[in-house]
Amino acid sequence: MDRVILIKYGELSTKKANRNFFINTLYKNLKNKLLGYEVKIHKDRARMYIEFLEKDLDSIKNIVSRVFGIHTYHIAYIVDTLDSIIQDKVLSSVKELDFKTFKIETKRSDKSFPIHSQDYNRVLGGLILKNIDGVSVDVHNPDLWITVEIREKSSFIYFNSYKGSGGYPVGTQSKGMLMLSGGIDSPVAGYLAMKRGMTLDAVYFEAMPHTSIEARNKVITLCRKLANYTDHINLHIINFTPIQEEIYKNCREDYMITIMRRMMYRIMDKLCKKYKGLVIVNGESVGQVASQTLTSMNVINSVTNLPVIRPVACFDKLEIMDIARNIDTYETSIIPYEDCCTVFVPKHPAINPKLGIAIAEENKFNYESMLDTAVESLNTIVITSTEENKFSDLL
Ligand code: ATP
Ligand code: MG
Repeated sequence: MDRVILIKYGELSTKKANRNFFINTLYKNLKNKLLGYEVKIHKDRARMYIEFLEKDLDSIKNIVSRVFGIHTYHIAYIVDTLDSIIQDKVLSSVKELDFKTFKIETKRSDKSFPIHSQDYNRVLGGLILKNIDGVSVDVHNPDLWITVEIREKSSFIYFNSYKGSGGYPVGTQSKGMLMLSGGIDSPVAGYLAMKRGMTLDAVYFEAMPHTSIEARNKVITLCRKLANYTDHINLHIINFTPIQEEIYKNCREDYMITIMRRMMYRIMDKLCKKYKGLVIVNGESVGQVASQTLTSMNVINSVTNLPVIRPVACFDKLEIMDIARNIDTYETSIIPYEDCCTVFVPKHPAINPKLGIAIAEENKFNYESMLDTAVESLNTIVITSTEENKFSDLL
C-alpha cells in the first residue's frame, strides 16, 4: 500500500464532549457506504484514513465526498516516519508531476521527530531544487503545494485537497420526517437536514388518479438521490385523494390550499408519533407562494406542536437551485409532472388566511377518521442509493 485517503473532520472537531460519538458515527457511515470495496479504515481523534485498491480510487472518492462530517480529504502517500524514507518518497512522487514553482509545508505533530518543521521545509526544498531542473520556490502562489504531515508511526505526503460535504455525520441527531414533493425545494431541504446529522424518513402525498405514476416515480428518484448521503430512506406514500376531494367539495376555494396543508401537517404529526420522528422538515421558503407567507405559515403550523424545520426558509430560489444542481436533484425536479398541490389550484388562494375561517371551513367535513385511514393505509418503500428497493407492493 502506497496511497491512502486521508480524511479531516469538519465541524466535528469542535465537538468536545461528544467527540467519540461523532467520530464513531462517521466511521460507521463510511464503513457502511464502502461495504462493496476492499478497504481498511483507520481512525483516531484527529483524522481517519482509508487503505484502498488503486482501481477503486475514483468510485471511493465519489462516495467519500458525499459522507457528511468530512471537511476535506487528500489522496496521500503514507510512509514510515523516518527522515530518509520521507525524503525518498517526496522526491519520487514529485518527480512524476508537472510544475515550475512549489512550496513545502511540514506539519510536525510527532515532536520526537528530530527536525523542526521550518528546518525540514528547507531540507525537502533543497532536495527538490537539487534534483529537479528548472523549478523554484514560490511561497505565495506555487503551482505545487506539498504538505508533509509527520506523525508518530506513519507520515503523510500530499499535494491536493478535496472538499468534503462538511456538516455532521448522519445519525448524530434523531429522526426528522421530510415532506418530499417532486419539486426543487424539498429535496434540497432534505439534503440540508441530513447535513446537520438528522436521519430522515420521507413522506409523499399523492392524489391518484389526479396525479400519475410518473409523478410518484419522480419522487422515488429524488429520494434515491438523497439516499446517496445516508444509508437508506423510508419513503411513506400517503393516499391523499379522498381528503383532497372532500376539501374540493366542501371548502371555500380561496382556503383550499390552506386547509390542504393543515391536513398534511396533521398527518405529518401522526407520522412523527408513529415513526418516532422529532421534527417535521419541509421545503417551504418565505414568500414563495401564497401558503408560505408568514400569516399562512401561522395558520397552517398551528395544527401541530412539533418543531417544523424549514432549511430553505430564507434562501432565494436561485440559491436553492444551485444546491439542487450540486446534489444532482435539479434535472429530476424540473421534469413537469402534476403534484397533488397543483391539481386543485384555486385562482386566488388566500395570502392572509384567518385561523377562524380555516377551522370553520375544514369542519364542514369529518376529516379526523380520514386522516387516520390515510395513515393506516400508507405504503412504505425502503429507498437505498444503489440497491433495488427491498420491498414494495406498489411497483
Ligand atoms: P418544492 O417546494 O419542493 O419545489 P413545490 O413547490 O411543489 O415543491 P410547495 O407547494 O412549495 O411545493 O410546498 C412547500 C413544501 O411542502 C414542499 O417543499 C414540500 O416540503 C411540501 N409538499 C408540497 N407538496 C407535497 C407533496 N405532494 N408531498 C409531500 N410534501 C409536499
Ligand atoms: Mg416550493
